[in-house]
Amino acid sequence: MRFALVGGNVFDGTGSPLRPGTSVVVEDSKIVGVSSDRDFGSDTALVDVTGRTVMPGLIDCHQHFGPWFQMLITEQSRSLMYHACRSIDSLRSILESGTTSARDLGGLEAGFRDAINDGLIAGPRLKVALTVLQATNSFEMLPGLGGLISPQEMYTKLPAVPANWCDGVDGCRAKVRECLRWGADFIKILNDQFPSKRLKLDRSPWTQEEVDAMCDEAHRSGVMVSAHAYRHEAVMTVLRAGVDSIEEGCFLDEECIQEMAKRQVWYVPCISCTVWHAESNPDPEGAKYGIQLRDGNIRALQLAMEAGVPIACGTDSPMWSGAVARELETMVKVGMSPGDALASATGRAADFIRTADEVGRIKAGLEADLLVINGDPLAEITVLHDIDRLELVMQGGKPVSGSLIPSLPKFPNRLPRVLIGGH
Ligand SMILES: [Zn+2]
Repeated sequence: MRFALVGGNVFDGTGSPLRPGTSVVVEDSKIVGVSSDRDFGSDTALVDVTGRTVMPGLIDCHQHFGPWFQMLITEQSRSLMYHACRSIDSLRSILESGTTSARDLGGLEAGFRDAINDGLIAGPRLKVALTVLQATNSFEMLPGLGGLISPQEMYTKLPAVPANWCDGVDGCRAKVRECLRWGADFIKILNDQFPSKRLKLDRSPWTQEEVDAMCDEAHRSGVMVSAHAYRHEAVMTVLRAGVDSIEEGCFLDEECIQEMAKRQVWYVPCISCTVWHAESNPDPEGAKYGIQLRDGNIRALQLAMEAGVPIACGTDSPMWSGAVARELETMVKVGMSPGDALASATGRAADFIRTADEVGRIKAGLEADLLVINGDPLAEITVLHDIDRLELVMQGGKPVSGSLIPSLPKFPNRLPRVLIGGH
């Protein structure tokens, strides 16, 4: 199967300006040519995209596609498999909205990633952390990331998702091994104290030695460590241990930012989540804290941009298909150039999650994960919100959604049909 998207304005994923009058040739799953040619011989179907933007599929570096803890608590009458089907639906709709790769920072078990890779279900190419590791008595009182800890010590435990608490140097090292044994692509740690009247807020729940052990074990295995950490002491502890990214980092101060710049640690701000808490959280206390989070989050992003910290786009917005568009819009609103914002969700995101040899740019040899947009997101970033102007979402050379699909050559059904013997 070979076709060419002819005459579009190409955003190549690096942050460079659009290249007008550019054609992108796709053969099977890959991009095989990017040029100003318009004629590719009789074996190549032509699809005219003159005036449209052609860009790489979006990458959401921080998502949670299986927020079981919330679903199982708020909708206890539903079964676990029903909630799993909602995750499947969410994965498909997020793909259809243009997010062709994503990282799940805790919740989703590795089977979802494998099912997408095997073509059983539709969704972004996934990297999964399985669970969010944390010290006992750090964040766990929050219904959510640690599961709900009731006074009766009840919490949510799922098969193939390791329980998330670990303490002591040996315990922390063993927990990383357990995550890797269940198929984690990277390790997510949460070194943060949920606001409490009883405990000092600015502390590192884990000791330096505990975080050192987790980073050492992950890095020895060739996988990254991403850290949720907000405040000075907790952030500096994980940075000294050598984490690869700070996620959210709502209260990063100048010293933390300087340390991140020096070490070139990635920052994934996830502002769309704190914007939601500030503007839409139905709980008045949550909304009040949300305003602090959002304002701190925006300030941290501005400091990071000034200091030259590498930035990747993530949303931390479970199952909200417009989250990447909202994140990019916010980044631009607070001072990032549209080119840098788009690169943070394409080429630079792929650099960060180590998939740049596969996706993230419009370049010969990479997988054909691409979008065709009726509009110019560099001039008008909000165009990404408008699903009607997203004329094509393509993943691995296969059309996913959009009004351009009838113009493309006919593709075989993407789902394999496997019959399993009954009895
Ligand atoms: Zn998260």
